[in-house]
Amino acid sequence: MNKITVIGVGYVGLVTSTCFAELGNQVIGVDIDQKKIDNLKKNIIPIYEEGLTELVKKNQENGNLSFTTDIAKAIKSSEIIFIAVGTPPMPDGTVNLTYVKSAAESIGKAMNGYKVIINKSTVPIGTGDIVKIIISQNYKNDFDIVSNPEFLKEGTAVADFMNPDRIIIGTDSLKAQKIVKKLYASQNSTIVNTDIKTAELIKYASNAFLATEISFINSIANICEKIGADVTKVSEGMKLDNRIGKKAFLNAGIGYGGSCFPKDVKGLIQIARENKVNFNILDAVEDTNSAQKQSLLPKIQSLLGDDLHNKNITIWGLAFKPNTDDTRESPALIIIKQLLDRNVNVTVVDPIAIDSVKLILKDTVTYETDLIKSVNNADCLIIATEWSEFKNVDLIEIKKSLKKPNVVDGRNIFDKKEMKNLGFNYLSVGR
Ligand code: NAD
Repeated sequence: MNKITVIGVGYVGLVTSTCFAELGNQVIGVDIDQKKIDNLKKNIIPIYEEGLTELVKKNQENGNLSFTTDIAKAIKSSEIIFIAVGTPPMPDGTVNLTYVKSAAESIGKAMNGYKVIINKSTVPIGTGDIVKIIISQNYKNDFDIVSNPEFLKEGTAVADFMNPDRIIIGTDSLKAQKIVKKLYASQNSTIVNTDIKTAELIKYASNAFLATEISFINSIANICEKIGADVTKVSEGMKLDNRIGKKAFLNAGIGYGGSCFPKDVKGLIQIARENKVNFNILDAVEDTNSAQKQSLLPKIQSLLGDDLHNKNITIWGLAFKPNTDDTRESPALIIIKQLLDRNVNVTVVDPIAIDSVKLILKDTVTYETDLIKSVNNADCLIIATEWSEFKNVDLIEIKKSLKKPNVVDGRNIFDKKEMKNLGFNYLSVGR
């Protein structure tokens, strides 16, 4: 049993604190957001993540997990401190380290003995040194810094945390390495021991590589559309090459979004630039992704004509991917803005993300929960997120409800032949 403090209880910190509590540790989750902490104490969690609410409740009840805004008290009573605060991008693409620095200062001021400070936030190379300096300015005795980047995926975060593909432990201290290794012993995963900077770079390299795969297959999809080929078959054929692999991230669509890929691609571009390394591939990955996010509009216009004024269009899917309520950088928001700019009457549906989107879109769109009702009298249905609820819909009922049988599928969730046989005017991506 370890005494752990997790600073920042957002997507990563809340999952980290709860899962370590579930594994039998004594964990305190700390945040500067008083409302978030008040709600967490009542088992009201700020995000949608399968299985998380039950685990938060169970571990608060059995005393393994608690939440506070009192960072000093939490640090004093813990031997292991995780930093899991946000690292949002600045307008120029550099990473905003304000929250990490502020957490480091709070840690330094509260230190009362040897502790291991583990950074889980995605941070530019060299941030480990910055954290060390800030803590040393406030505390003169022994402590160790570890970089332990997080790879959980929103939507499957608890399962990913409990069964990670790998655990990266970046540190120069053998003592700290042993402590962190023991902490993760029950996860039974491959451990990569390395120095801090290498660990920090592994995170950026992984996310930027995944984003590159997405932009690559989207460019292939665009060729497919010109020559009449099928990108899903291209992807299937590619994945059978063992060097590419069955799980390769090669699903064509309307581009990546979320809080990580866009930010981390920008972050790595910045790291390359600062170190005078030519990494033009990443500029192309970004450009391709921005273009792909705009690719639905011409498809809609090819079905409805250029003038969309007063047309009724329904969007299924607001989250940047299924099984999350996260709409940060979601492609759906781009297409909605393009449609609203053209005076379209927009109706939106999402199984989980409606509440987070209401804060952004307010009353500019109509919110609907029933899939069949949502397309009533619509000129076109657009699929922007591949929720399984959408895949299993009764397409005959959808066709009856639509004013015109137009469907633009940005995530290739329907079978092209079936859609044609049912009489839809159906456009998808790269097929
Ligand atoms: P988030 O915005 O959901 O949560 C960050 C939390 O930190 C917020 O609750 C905020 O109030 C709190 N905070 C900020 N400053 C604080 C301080 N000084 N003391 C205490 N709390 C403070 O962010 P997130 O999505 O959990 O991401 C956190 C980090 O993990 C980022 O670096 C991100 O890139 C990385 N990451 C995110 C994911 C993901 O899927 N979201 C996956 C892997 C890695």
